[in-house]
Amino acid sequence: MLFVSKTVMSFTFLVILLASNTIRAEVVNKILPEQLVSLRSGGGREWSEFPENIELAQFEHRFDSETNANPWTLSIRQQDVKEIWNVSINGKSIGRLTRDENDLRCDFEIPAELLNTSENKLEIRCSSDKNSDDIRIGEIEIHNVAPTRLRSGSTIEIVIHDVNQHPIPGRVTIVDLQGTLIPINIASANATPSTLKPSNQNTRTQNNAFAKRHGVVYTANGRAIFGVQPGTYRIYAGRGFEYSVETLDVQIAQGQYAKRTVNLQRQVDTKGWVACDTHVHTVTHSGHGDCTIAERMVTIAGEGIELPIATDHNTQIDYTTPARLAGVNQWFTPVVGNEVTTQRGHFNIFPTSSDSQRPNHQAPDWSELFDSIFENQTVKIAILNHARDLHSSFRPFSPRHHISLTGTNLDDFDRRFNAMELINSGAVQTTPMQLFGDWCGLINNGMQVTPVGSSDSHDVTRYIVGQGRTYIACDDSQPNQIPVNAAVTAFLQGQVVVSYGLFANLRANQQAGPGDLLELGENEPLKVDAEVRHPDWTEVTSIELWVNGEPRISQKIDPGSHPLNADSTPTPSDSEVKSHRVQFSWEIPREELSSDVWLSLVARGPGVRQPYWPTAKPYQPDSIDFSPYVFSSTGPLRVDVDGDGAFSSAADYASQIVDQLSSADDNSPINLQLLADELQELEPAISHQVLAMLRPNIDQMPQLIERLEHESQTNARRFEQAWLTSLRAQLERIE
Ligand SMILES: [Zn+2]
Ligand SMILES: [Zn+2]
Repeated sequence: MLFVSKTVMSFTFLVILLASNTIRAEVVNKILPEQLVSLRSGGGREWSEFPENIELAQFEHRFDSETNANPWTLSIRQQDVKEIWNVSINGKSIGRLTRDENDLRCDFEIPAELLNTSENKLEIRCSSDKNSDDIRIGEIEIHNVAPTRLRSGSTIEIVIHDVNQHPIPGRVTIVDLQGTLIPINIASANATPSTLKPSNQNTRTQNNAFAKRHGVVYTANGRAIFGVQPGTYRIYAGRGFEYSVETLDVQIAQGQYAKRTVNLQRQVDTKGWVACDTHVHTVTHSGHGDCTIAERMVTIAGEGIELPIATDHNTQIDYTTPARLAGVNQWFTPVVGNEVTTQRGHFNIFPTSSDSQRPNHQAPDWSELFDSIFENQTVKIAILNHARDLHSSFRPFSPRHHISLTGTNLDDFDRRFNAMELINSGAVQTTPMQLFGDWCGLINNGMQVTPVGSSDSHDVTRYIVGQGRTYIACDDSQPNQIPVNAAVTAFLQGQVVVSYGLFANLRANQQAGPGDLLELGENEPLKVDAEVRHPDWTEVTSIELWVNGEPRISQKIDPGSHPLNADSTPTPSDSEVKSHRVQFSWEIPREELSSDVWLSLVARGPGVRQPYWPTAKPYQPDSIDFSPYVFSSTGPLRVDVDGDGAFSSAADYASQIVDQLSSADDNSPINLQLLADELQELEPAISHQVLAMLRPNIDQMPQLIERLEHESQTNARRFEQAWLTSLRAQLERIE
């Protein structure tokens, strides 16, 4: 689609423009015009998508030029940049590549007189060779004007409306024909074309209505006005997970002003579910990343988060005033939290207040830490963050400390956290199911732990705020008046959906959902209705029903097999919502249920590679191979099968069995045959718990396994493997 822009530039502005810009912007030097080259810092290969052998650890290029009397621009296309890469010309540093994995073009100002008529040298090198970083650079050009001039030759205005023509906050993504995010200039949202004043590309926007980075503008009021170099661009407008992404192709010439309005459709029906990001940072109060608190307000509104929890490190920030200053206070209800950042793990706590006591993040152990956290009576929630990541040489769920299969803590830590992150979209795991498996172990272990999706975003665009999020079953009719106490209660009960590009939900016997307890009648089968919703720009390819932490029913789905709204009736109250929905109903016969069970629905699909919502690569990868993914899972739906009116966990059943098996003397060895007879009858979760409880007394695992048959033997072997992994990690001190 060719976009014909209208010229609305006033005559006076044109005259000023002509007078001040006598030099025509042009490319004066093309370095590596055709191809991207790969560079590798550090020793090892970072990603298998890069060549096995990369000769270049740095880039050096000699070129002829004329002298530059005024500042010029060096422009570089870059991909997959994680570490610090310095860029210099003739030995003088002119900046760094942007630390961002996305495909983007960045500009550097070449100071006046830096180029000379004899030979010039461009160098790009990593500041450290400690961590491996595979990057691509290329299409390097030198332009004979400064970056601000270069990126302001033409102006584009995008207006974002909902279907009722009301302006709404959102995100505009601008790429060139190759899909590369391009440098842009931003101007005030209130500016008319004749008062546009381009600001420096590298200066953080001072205007509270915007957050801008390479190829991205978040707008608080639905208007994004930005300068570009004349050319042809693809522009996407969206508003996070629940909305459509609209695509425009724009061709614009020098001096033209182009305005376009887009109408976003609400595509994912989340009525009755509050969109919460429990893990949000700012550079203002965390000291790293690049998103100021003013910009954070705009990005939260632009991604459609209704309940943001402010969790800067060891501090308690209130977003109320910044949200008002940015003009976005009608879009969300801010909650004060704190990422309690310790030498022994990070915990997000809330709700609290900015003037109440901060917990002691230097507490020597978890016991004192949780005493300190819950000393403040308003704090109800403590989330164990990124439990598989290594921080301060400690990994909470390292096998050295923790048996994932059974949720067993090997250090006798005082575990008073009541939620854990399954998805942290700023630090995704190589394997999507690993943290989910860890969480299943905790529930089987008898803990009450709410599963969480969050973003841990410190940036405007490198990692997207609200990409990982938690939906909480709560009244969401007024985003700026979310009843926080009700949301906290529902959250603690597990009435949640972990969302990362998909929204999975389930109901049992048409009466219980995530976080609920279903009392199953004596002869009643267990009927499960499963549903996954998503916008038309993500895809679900597999759905699994997990029972007691084991996959029970799996369903593969052909991409594109469920057209928009085809298999659902639109909700009458929200009739414009057109979700993609996939629905299945399953039944588990009563005779297959002998004890209480808990259910969770898991949905997965391929990750998003498009520049408007790219799912990130792992922050601490376990492998050089990675397939990006989207994910969703529900809070635990507990089923009282044995009719005692309550839910008993696998650990509850296991401890009864262990009591029967144990003699009065705790240290005496277990009678292997009696134990084998018991294990023969047990389902996996309970048998694993029995073995975890008895492990100090079982010194003959192989003999026990020999006495078991079929599935019970497989179950015991799985526990043996997990336990041996932990013993090895302890012996070799592997964190
Ligand atoms: Zn952290
Ligand atoms: Zn964090």
